[in-house]
This record gives sequence, structure tokens and C-alpha cells, in this order.
Amino acid sequence: MSTTTPAERTLVLLKPDAVRRGLVGELLGRFERKGLTIDAMELRTIDGAAADAHYAEHTEQPWYPPLRAFVTSGPLVALVLSGDEAITVTRALIGSTDGRKAAAGTIRGDFSLSNRENLVHASDSPESAKREIDLWFPGQA
Ligand code: ADP
Ligand code: MG
Repeated sequence: MSTTTPAERTLVLLKPDAVRRGLVGELLGRFERKGLTIDAMELRTIDGAAADAHYAEHTEQPWYPPLRAFVTSGPLVALVLSGDEAITVTRALIGSTDGRKAAAGTIRGDFSLSNRENLVHASDSPESAKREIDLWFPGQA
């Protein structure tokens, strides 16, 4: 294991469908078995303003109002994961956005049949990771 590469960090949400369906342990287990480290974790229920801040790039989309209703519909688990290339590694583990099309073996491919209720959010770039970690866990970026 390299001791010189600084661990990258990414912001992950286990969305309300994951909590409702009792999949939190399964999903955390996948991240842990991959070798990623949980740096921060909290069960939280967010309001519409927090959803708008998190999904700032999407608020004008026609599918945003139902997404907003969904992510505020119950508790979710917010976490910061760290590890070598954590951002791309985590995106690969969760699979493509639409659960109906996501590859088998990915989280969405194995557990989601929806393009909205797709269980997990993960930052898609270093810039998003910094913005999202600042938003969810201020002072920890
Ligand atoms: P990802 O979560 O894979 O990064 P996006 O950033 O494009 O995907 O979209 C954010 C979230 O919005 C998705 O995870 C999904 O919950 C929802 N979403 C995206 N596209 C659609 C759509 N066409 N219809 C309904 N919900 C969508
Ligand atoms: Mg995204």
C-alpha cells in the first residue's frame, strides 16, 4: 500500500429508499469490502432547501420536483468515504443512474428498478466532492 498517495474523499448518500428497504448494511458492506474508509456518517432527514442546495445543478430539470419529494421523504444516511481514487471507485460501485440499465454487480444494477429511486448518490468529480462535503459536513473537507 502506498503511503505517499493522499486518500481522496467523496460524499455519498444512502437515499431514503435504501433506509426504507433495509439496505443500509448491505450498501455500507460493499463500500467497506472494497477497501474504502468511512470518515463521517450520519442519519439525517433533509428539508427542501437542503435538497435544492445539494442538487443545485438539477433544480430546473422537469424531473426535479419528484426527486426533491423523494429525497426529503424520510431519513437518509450521509457519509464521507475515503481511499485511493475514491471518487471514481465509488461511482463504479454504484453503477449508472438508471437502475433498469445499470450493470449487474453494481449497487443500482443489483437493487434498483428506477431512474429516480436508485439508492445512492456519490460525488462525480473532485470539485463536486469538495462542494458536497462542505455542504453536508462543514469543516471536514
Ligand atoms: P447520478 O446520481 O448518477 O449522478 P444525476 O446527477 O444525473 O445522476 O441525477 C441526480 C439524481 O436525479 C439521480 O440519481 C436520480 O435519483 C435523479 N434523476 C436523474 N435523472 C432522472 C430522470 N430522468 N428522471 C427521474 N429522476 C432522475
Ligand atoms: Mg450526479
